[in-house]
Amino acid sequence: MRKAPFIRIPYTGPLPTPELYPRNANSTPGAIAALSKFLTAPPSPSLQNGVADPQSTVVLSGAGISVASGLADYRGTNGTYRQNKAYRPIYYHEFLASHEARKRYWARSFLGWTNLHKAKPNAAHYAVKDLGEMGIVRSVVTQNVDSFHSIAHPNLPTLELHGYLRALVCVSCHNELPRGVFQDSLAKLNPAWAAFLEEVIRSGALDTENPDERRAKGMKTNPDGDVDLPGAPYTTFRYPACPHCLANPPIAGDGTQTRVEVDGEGAWSATSTAGILKPAVIMFGESIPSKVKDTAEHAIDGSGRLLVLGTSLATYSAWRLAKRALERGMPIGILNLGGVRGEEAFFQKLPIGQTGEAGVRVEFPTDKILPKLVDQLRQAGFAKVADAGMANAADEQHANSKIFKDMLS
Ligand SMILES: [Zn+2]
Repeated sequence: MRKAPFIRIPYTGPLPTPELYPRNANSTPGAIAALSKFLTAPPSPSLQNGVADPQSTVVLSGAGISVASGLADYRGTNGTYRQNKAYRPIYYHEFLASHEARKRYWARSFLGWTNLHKAKPNAAHYAVKDLGEMGIVRSVVTQNVDSFHSIAHPNLPTLELHGYLRALVCVSCHNELPRGVFQDSLAKLNPAWAAFLEEVIRSGALDTENPDERRAKGMKTNPDGDVDLPGAPYTTFRYPACPHCLANPPIAGDGTQTRVEVDGEGAWSATSTAGILKPAVIMFGESIPSKVKDTAEHAIDGSGRLLVLGTSLATYSAWRLAKRALERGMPIGILNLGGVRGEEAFFQKLPIGQTGEAGVRVEFPTDKILPKLVDQLRQAGFAKVADAGMANAADEQHANSKIFKDMLS
């Protein structure tokens, strides 16, 4: 098997115009009927042998599912970054190499966190929870770093392919630090910024989900919880060192003793050679750990079909999982506004006259369709698996989550 690094890179190429399957799935009832057929059909005859649960579905989600929570989508329908044309995410190597780049990143992130922290999962995440409880969805792989899936359905195995913003991780010792603790440190180290943040919160610029209103108040937000503040003196921003490395400077890979130095208030000093904290997300240009990659593949391989929710599959790591599903003979369903990278290939072999069992392509917001889909499945007699044997099913779900976590530890 190919062992090339699995690097997260943004895709900037054009996306195709979606063609809908089946053809009558262009209305809400049509889309719901097709998805319902897709999720409940018998396993596909083209499916490879040896799938753990061929009747089940694995969900692959992206930024589109969080739009209804007030978080921005990365892309417009033509695949370009839509909020802010000048926005370019920071790359891992820049973050590691440059103290100045880190100041800028953390200053913007400091302002953006309040909003992200306040945001909550939406009806689409809870519909995925319901589908999990019905035994229809077996696991979720998400590209999102907002933790909404794990908040909405803690008992449904969920793999966060690109990590999560709820914690920081030290690039030297790999210990994690909760984001709330880190945010408090940033506020203490940067009182002028903290005062500015208070002011912005008071102005209401962070309350509105409307990018135009935010812009009118002088703010721009980006999908990673990043806020643009024209003319802000990023160079004055300070961030803390990893507390573990500060207490106990680690030995570097080459056997030399590292230095972790801070100013009088605990801000990381540029004379340090270790103890840099980064968000616990896979940054652009950073490799996805092989355990995460293997677990994601394992999740795909364990189910009989793939449901893609709110993603253009623009990142290679996600697109590759969909391609894997296709190669394994899994029917693919896509619910996404706008084109999806390479989507023609997913539906090339659909039998004529199929009504959703072999593949679905629909274009609606996830929060408008999934709750209604759950209602329809309930009417068709699908109930919480736990209703049949509450204790056992719950135990089993916990056991599943545990297996997932063990694989990542
Ligand atoms: Zn550390």
